[in-house]
Amino acid sequence: MIKGLEVARGKTKVLFEKPSEPDVLVVQALDSITAGDGARRNEVPGKGRIAAKTTARVFRLLNLCGLPTHYLSGGEDDDDNEMLVRRCTMIPLEVVVRGVAAGSLVKRKPSIVRGSIIIPRMVEFFLKDDANHDPLIEPDQIVARAIATSQEIAAMSEIARIVFEILAHAWRGQQTLLVDLKIEFGRLATGDGKGSLVIADVIDNDSWRIWPQGREELMLDKQVYRNLTDVTDADLVRLKETYERVAEMVGRFPVMRPGMAALIADGQERVGTLDPIARALGKGFGVPSLRRIASSTLLPSYTLQVVQQLDATFASIVYVAAGDDTLVRLIDGATPSPVIGIAHRTADEVALACAKMLAVDNSVLFGRVLLQQANARSAIVQADGQLSAAASLSGTLG
Ligand code: 5GP
Repeated sequence: MIKGLEVARGKTKVLFEKPSEPDVLVVQALDSITAGDGARRNEVPGKGRIAAKTTARVFRLLNLCGLPTHYLSGGEDDDDNEMLVRRCTMIPLEVVVRGVAAGSLVKRKPSIVRGSIIIPRMVEFFLKDDANHDPLIEPDQIVARAIATSQEIAAMSEIARIVFEILAHAWRGQQTLLVDLKIEFGRLATGDGKGSLVIADVIDNDSWRIWPQGREELMLDKQVYRNLTDVTDADLVRLKETYERVAEMVGRFPVMRPGMAALIADGQERVGTLDPIARALGKGFGVPSLRRIASSTLLPSYTLQVVQQLDATFASIVYVAAGDDTLVRLIDGATPSPVIGIAHRTADEVALACAKMLAVDNSVLFGRVLLQQANARSAIVQADGQLSAAASLSGTLG
């Protein structure tokens, strides 16, 4: 790819302009590995390609879930390590999410037992400052030093937690425990959405701790390198193999395999109730749906035949029974797949229930569910804020 001027150089990557595309940068991953804020540094030939592949796969998953990231395309084998990203102004913070106690947390707080599960997840901010070993920084200091606003801090914490949950879900599918994770944010520098927060930088095998089968001694991440006393050539060869294995595992993270929602109306008169459910499934979660009409009273055996056909056609299917309890029970007795009734539920609630069921083995849908729940929470807080602002205004005026 033709690259323009170099715009930035980090310990493990270089950023270039993309000629005639001012909103886009090219990120090239280097073969370097560093630890101790750059005090230890080695070259592992091929690591850049592996790192780019890992990052591209992770960002693609996050994009599919609907999270805001700077990633556009590239990073796979035939892209020569070159990933295209939206141009951002980086926020000089490392945002760390912890789901299991390890690393600097247990050093700082010896009362926390290493390996213990952290619920709710802990989010910490570290200032990017190698000379001072990336010190922990509290939110009030971030605001006081004008690094980010309190709204941005809240958004970064929420997004970072969601990223952690999505990746923990994807890693569980590989029988591996995601222990902790570091991500960085930027503000879009140009174009659509200028100024808004996006997940930026890279997310690769240097960014997390991963323990296969939950066993620390089987770790596959950069901690292997940090733990070496002397680094030999043989260590670097093993390290590269480990990083390659992780990229392969990340390659098995799901792309979009959304499954199918079968919406079954008990009689023609109920078909109208299916449309809003189909819209909520499509718009909210990208879940495709199909509609059928059956009758639990007039054509029970036809209803069962429809269900059998659908079961044989789709690997992952959820039924929505738009009828009374008779239809729910009829379908439920005929299929091993989940069945949802619509009584006392809005179309959005039915769609959410379907998405949750299909999300069990699908990290993309899992992420979309988390994101929709976070948006619903934030809409309530915003509406409440507006209501109380209006109330205090009318109090002042009154
Ligand atoms: P800790 O604070 O326990 O050392 O690290 C927490 C998490 O953030 C770990 O997953 C670790 O790999 C990651 N992390 C911390 N500092 C850095 C850093 O400077 N670069 C990268 N890539 N990851 C980091």
